[in-house]
Amino acid sequence: MSRKNKHIPQRTCIACRQTRDKENLIRLVCSDGGIVEVDPSAKKPGRGAYLCLQKDCWEIGLKGNRLEHALRTKLSIDNRQALIEYSNNLPGGSRI
Ligand SMILES: [Zn+2]
Repeated sequence: MSRKNKHIPQRTCIACRQTRDKENLIRLVCSDGGIVEVDPSAKKPGRGAYLCLQKDCWEIGLKGNRLEHALRTKLSIDNRQALIEYSNNLPGGSRI
């Protein structure tokens, strides 16, 4: 077997439901303490969910309860705010 198939894992964005290469998504993980964190390395243990590298998707994911639903957790106000701040650095979407 000389040819190696470069396999890129596919994940689905919880906001727009599009399947993308993992590289184009950001993983969010729910830690033991119930805090949802951004996991750029995608290596942290715990339940994970993916969002596109686009502000639009973060707004959708954070505005409703999609992220909470996907991670089976409840976001605190502070936690949600921290994630919104993170998403403000992402490209795309209208500026709030
Ligand atoms: Zn998306």
